[in-house]
Amino acid sequence: MNVKWEERLSCATMCSRCNKELDKRILSVYDHQPICMECKKEEEARPDYEEVSKNMIGQCMAETEQLYGDPGGYCFHHFYPFTCKE
Ligand SMILES: [Zn+2]
Repeated sequence: MNVKWEERLSCATMCSRCNKELDKRILSVYDHQPICMECKKEEEARPDYEEVSKNMIGQCMAETEQLYGDPGGYCFHHFYPFTCKE
């Protein structure tokens, strides 16, 4: 993932799971796609969610330290909903 993630992800208009229009979006820890809050809830109910998210944040921190100017943003968008920047 070495493209500009903000342009690609933060302004996605549809949930990659259910194709609903996105207002607030959050990234999946499974595939890093922008999804809606309802789909996130479903994701959080998965039995392996805790483990996957723990692995993801570790990996994300290591990778973004080298690749992105704002490592916090990308990593934390998996856990905190965000809206598209104007
Ligand atoms: Zn959805």
